[in-house]
Amino acid sequence: MSEKKRIALLGSTGSIGTQTLEVAELFPELLQIEVLTAHSNADLLIRQAKKFQPNIVVIGDETKYEYVKEALWDDDIKVYAGRQALLDVVQMGCVDMVLSAIVGVAGLAPIYKAIECGKQIALANKETLVVAGELMTRTAYENGVNLYPVDSEHSAIFQCLAGEFHNPVSRLIITASGGPFRGKKKEELLHVTKEQALKHPNWSMGSKITIDSATLMNKGLEVIEAKWLFSVPLEKIDVVVHPQSIVHSMVEFQDGSIKAQLGLPDMKLPIQYALTYPARQPNNFPRLNFAEHPTLTFEQPDLETFPCLRLAVEASRQGGCMPCVLNAANEAAVGLFLRDQIGFYDIPRLIEEALAHTDFCRPTTVDEYLEIDKNTKQTILQSFSK
Ligand code: NAD
Ligand code: MG
Repeated sequence: MSEKKRIALLGSTGSIGTQTLEVAELFPELLQIEVLTAHSNADLLIRQAKKFQPNIVVIGDETKYEYVKEALWDDDIKVYAGRQALLDVVQMGCVDMVLSAIVGVAGLAPIYKAIECGKQIALANKETLVVAGELMTRTAYENGVNLYPVDSEHSAIFQCLAGEFHNPVSRLIITASGGPFRGKKKEELLHVTKEQALKHPNWSMGSKITIDSATLMNKGLEVIEAKWLFSVPLEKIDVVVHPQSIVHSMVEFQDGSIKAQLGLPDMKLPIQYALTYPARQPNNFPRLNFAEHPTLTFEQPDLETFPCLRLAVEASRQGGCMPCVLNAANEAAVGLFLRDQIGFYDIPRLIEEALAHTDFCRPTTVDEYLEIDKNTKQTILQSFSK
């Protein structure tokens, strides 16, 4: 291994992707960007490549291949396009760690391939563990691969667990901001627009996860993510609403002691921890000043108003293909909501219907999961294209 950690950053043009590059820029002596990939934002990908001079870039949208290749011709950067290229680059010898900041199930196949090849993983793409958590964690274990969480709640739990290897966990307590509609009731939310749902009080993120935060599906996905990452059963995972987003999550141990990780809501900190673990490198990020945050509050989530959290936990309890169906239906429904084709409460309705119409099965391969994902989305989208 070279002295620097050589990173393949999947989804470099998104919210997590761009913040990962801000972190990489701070530690040029520790981190080297070897691969950058994006789905369609060719211009930003080109700008990033010119600045970070990776070995390789991949543009998902094949119609933009010539454009990107021409732009990077003089920089001696290899350019590839399409889905297969994503699977190829994560295997390359010049890569030590893959950070997946792809949104949705599109992240599944590249991460699985990277795990099979023994690459260390920094995971922002929670959908991967939601859909195929058992397969992913087992394959990681078999290949000696660590999955470092980037999601702030899971990074918090990971930090609370440091030094506690031999101490059983009695409870994980995942905090939720409650999103833009916290405190509202269903009658008030029936006609909310996507613009209202996209106004998150504490975090600036990609549109899909922002809608997931408004429905609380994001917290449901995070409960499933935590179950797999930390091998803790659902009964021992609680969600507590904490509107200030200062306590990023907590762990309770057998003696009743609870450890929490605190900080300002800034994804750069969990990203840095995943990239530089176990070291805590000095940085210039804004610091938490308790004088500016005199009140930290905690309340129970409202499962009547936000049924997605309950649906996610139920799907995970059933296991097998159900979390995959849940995730696929959610991705399809959120896409429809973002295109103004359905209302806010159609999101849980479509997910509930998809789960109710599913014949239970136990997929064992990535392809089987992707097939279920495709069929679930098609069924939902077909009914809206007529
Ligand atoms: P985003 O929409 O801002 O960015 C998504 C990235 O994925 C883009 O670079 C895009 O090019 C790429 N992408 C999209 N579709 C793709 C496809 N089909 N194939 C390959 N690449 C594709 O999303 P984000 O907010 O950065 O979130 C990324 C992931 O991180 C999500 O799984 C999200 O749940 C998770 N996450 C995000 C945050 C956050 O603060 N944004 C926090 C915690 C976890
Ligand atoms: Mg989170």
